[in-house]
Amino acid sequence: MADDTSRLVEVADGVHAYVQPDGGWCLNNAGVILAGDEAIVVDTAATERRALRLKESVDSLAAGPRRTVVNTHFHGDHTFGNKVFGPDATVVSHALTRTDMAETGLALTGLWPDVEWGDVEVVLPGLTYSGSLTLHAGGRRVDLLHLGPAHTRSDTVVWLPEERVLFTGDIVMPGCTPFVLMGTVRGSLEVLQRLRALEPVTVVGGHGPLAGPEAFDATEEYLRWLEKVAAEGAARGLTPLEAARTCDLGPFAGLLDSERLVGNLHRAWHELDDPRLASPLDVVGVFGEMVTYHGRLPDCHA
Ligand SMILES: [Zn+2]
Repeated sequence: MADDTSRLVEVADGVHAYVQPDGGWCLNNAGVILAGDEAIVVDTAATERRALRLKESVDSLAAGPRRTVVNTHFHGDHTFGNKVFGPDATVVSHALTRTDMAETGLALTGLWPDVEWGDVEVVLPGLTYSGSLTLHAGGRRVDLLHLGPAHTRSDTVVWLPEERVLFTGDIVMPGCTPFVLMGTVRGSLEVLQRLRALEPVTVVGGHGPLAGPEAFDATEEYLRWLEKVAAEGAARGLTPLEAARTCDLGPFAGLLDSERLVGNLHRAWHELDDPRLASPLDVVGVFGEMVTYHGRLPDCHA
């Protein structure tokens, strides 16, 4: 099974990426930052089994018992595992991420009813912020930054300025098709510029292999192409699904989970006429169109 291949990679002294190949639907990455007697965990996992495996990895590394869990955004593959870190862990997120977690609940489990989710429940963050929040622990500085709506309306990136390591959440997913149905194309492009300006050396995306800043370029190229497909499709009177079916994926055909194109086009279409970023769309209805485009349920190996 794919889960045998999840692994820890030390990307800087005491800073680990927890990578779950192949990075497809619900196979997210996490981070483990050691800081004195504390471990700062960046995101959890989708299923109870995967979250427990992540916790084992954290416990095997951490010198002490304190745990801070950062949720980069509200999606269940990054948050459902909060519970396994127990009642003593401090869970942190952007304030609107907490709101969206509470409203969305376990809806993700309904999209893939055959996945063995285990005993998952929504454990909401006990600490929220807006703008930015800096954690100081064990001589280390860890910045939580909200740089604008992108993959969702309230993404957090985790930035270690000394080590120049950036955990992007799903704003960047190397090797995978970006996904902005619940976020914004235009906002993502702006946020990518801000991420570039940080000048990270190591980029740990929310899914996919470890990367460097070249991952920003790849994400931007896709989003610019997406805007072009949407503008041309709308001008021809197509629907987003029709545009997805008739366009040539070109260099993006090799990215994982290409059916996200349909959802992405819905968002890009919406932004042609509406200046608001990340306003709500009919996610379940659009997911149905993604199933239609793909010919079956998207592949989830969580
Ligand atoms: Zn996500």
